[in-house]
Amino acid sequence: VKDGDDYVITGRKWFTTAADGAAFAIVMAVTDPDAPPHRRATQIIVPTDAPGFRLVRNIPIMGHAGEGWASHGEIEYDHVRVPQTNRLGEEGAGFAIAQERLGPGRIHHCMRWLGICKRAFDLMCRRAATRDVGDGKTLATKQIVQAWIAECRAKMVAARWAVLACAWRIDREGFYAAREEVSLIKFYVADVLSEVIDRAVQVHGALGLTDDTPLGHYYAHERGAHIYDGPDEVHKIVVARRILRAYAESTP
Ligand SMILES: Cc1cc2nc3c(=O)[nH]c(=O)nc-3n(C[C@H](O)[C@H](O)[C@H](O)COP(=O)(O)OP(=O)(O)OC[C@H]3O[C@@H](n4cnc5c(N)ncnc54)[C@H](O)[C@@H]3O)c2cc1C
Repeated sequence: VKDGDDYVITGRKWFTTAADGAAFAIVMAVTDPDAPPHRRATQIIVPTDAPGFRLVRNIPIMGHAGEGWASHGEIEYDHVRVPQTNRLGEEGAGFAIAQERLGPGRIHHCMRWLGICKRAFDLMCRRAATRDVGDGKTLATKQIVQAWIAECRAKMVAARWAVLACAWRIDREGFYAAREEVSLIKFYVADVLSEVIDRAVQVHGALGLTDDTPLGHYYAHERGAHIYDGPDEVHKIVVARRILRAYAESTP
């Protein structure tokens, strides 16, 4: 709510990534509930030392406590008062600003996931080529392992080109024009990532579950790829709606 020249913020928010150690948080709050949905929210910078701001805890994720930048905080805002000059952009521009940030954020995740795929794939191939399974043969001689390797490679190549095509469109036409491509790579590359990590773990056997390779860490931490910055289902809806709208408009 507004009070004089200030905003007074009360509420609770979890999954504020890297809140631990941050100097400020960006709060997105509804400032005009009667406005159209895309004009209701405003973004406000809140210093983490403002009275009433409390990092309740770093939320433990898949057995890891989390700290510093590698953490996801639960925050309580108890009548936190900040001047209206801390607002980012105009009042009601919160949704538009979030959309501008989420486009680059999503393709950035996809590029990072391609790197993780490459690392997991390299580990898988090296293990398959060296693991002795008796009679002087390695895992790499097993047809099912060969099929996994070929399928993973094909999907990684497809994912890489899809990300490149998306980046190409963003470069030329901007994020708004490329929103279908961004949604498409967000769920597709997440699927490829999960499959490649899972196959790599399987090829490593028990070793794949240990912390002696990075695979166990990837397996736990990259599961979130299907959830953060919009879950898979929402991105599939975005893509399908846009495709189907074109058919509805062109079908007599
Ligand atoms: C590692 C991580 C870091 C994060 N960091 C941040 C952060 O820094 N800041 C921040 O604000 N948030 C952050 N989040 C929160 C994240 O944006 C949300 O978790 C995500 O948008 C999903 O919302 P939710 O968890 O409330 O799930 P819900 O909305 O409860 O959805 C639960 C499930 O329902 C399904 N579902 C949801 N909507 C639909 C739909 N329309 N149609 C069909 N199915 C649907 C999906 O399967 C989804 O997984 C983070 C989350 C994670 C996991």
